[in-house]
Amino acid sequence: MKLGNVFVTGGAGFIGSHLVDKLMRKGCNITVFDNLTSGSVENLAIWASDKRFRLVEGDMKNRDELAEALNGKIDLVFHFAANPEVRVGETDPTVHFRENLTATFNLLECMRAHETAHVIVFASTSTVYGEAHVLPTPEDYGPLFPISTYGASKLGCEALIASYTHTFGLRGLIFRLANIVGPRSKHGVLFDFVKKLRVDPKRLEILGDGTQKKSYLHVDDCVDAIVHALNIFLADTKKVDVYNVGSVDQIEVREIAQIVTGMMELEDTKLIFTGGVDGGRGWLGDVKNMQLDISKLLATGWKPKRNTEQAIQATLKEFLGKI
Ligand code: NAD
Repeated sequence: MKLGNVFVTGGAGFIGSHLVDKLMRKGCNITVFDNLTSGSVENLAIWASDKRFRLVEGDMKNRDELAEALNGKIDLVFHFAANPEVRVGETDPTVHFRENLTATFNLLECMRAHETAHVIVFASTSTVYGEAHVLPTPEDYGPLFPISTYGASKLGCEALIASYTHTFGLRGLIFRLANIVGPRSKHGVLFDFVKKLRVDPKRLEILGDGTQKKSYLHVDDCVDAIVHALNIFLADTKKVDVYNVGSVDQIEVREIAQIVTGMMELEDTKLIFTGGVDGGRGWLGDVKNMQLDISKLLATGWKPKRNTEQAIQATLKEFLGKI
């Protein structure tokens, strides 16, 4: 299906820029709206001189800036801008409410007033499930009680999107993403470990007790899944739908540390566990055991090309310049 004119918030960031790469190769005309706080112009450098591409530097907290950028015919809006750092909420909860909830509300209000931009694709997160009692966790798990302000703000965004689809005629597709890894990522455990070991290869501080167990998906698989499920959604008439996006297996943080030191060829690195908080979590609000049930996505015919360990290894190879 032709996706046409596309607006991507957060398109200069990690996942957003990979999505832009994929959509540009599919022939879309793209406007990226990004305030470049964590994203960068370099992530999109290959498209800079392409007439089908436009980067607007602006902040989603400013509704006028957003409305101005969202002019003309828009077939689809991908909303990927956010503050994705779960830990930030531990010290300053207002960040997630402004950067995620206010930003999403502003976007929905602009879309409500817009003549053509009536489909929103939203990057949500596994953290909306909180400490799920069912693992792997399916999309219809509930009640949803997030344990971080990040998860709470994302769940609030999902709720706003659902309400706008029923009240104002928009359509919404929500993706609850597992931990996504790959080139251009500037946060998360792999980036953190490599950065620390480059400073001091003799010791690696690991937040928590190291038994936190999560699943990881390579960004190539992530954007593939999003475009695949989007085509199904567009051919359908549902107002709103939700998919988990992840891999089918998990890994413990301490195993990741072994993989990282092994791939960096470090033999005598001391692993120092902080012990963590609240039963060995890395920080308050850190979900200790995360595994999404991706049966719904698998049933559409999509499957990840890499499992958790392969995604981690591929990312490390890219980070370490080994490919
Ligand atoms: P990222 O930080 O690389 O990308 C976010 C982008 O949004 C950046 O380019 C940043 O500059 C931009 N941005 C932030 N606030 C903005 C604002 N107020 N106005 C305009 N632009 C703004 O993060 P990412 O890892 O690529 O995450 C993309 C999306 O996926 C986010 O919504 C995040 O919550 C979600 N997500 C990511 C993961 C993951 O593992 N990376 C997992 C689950 C969900």
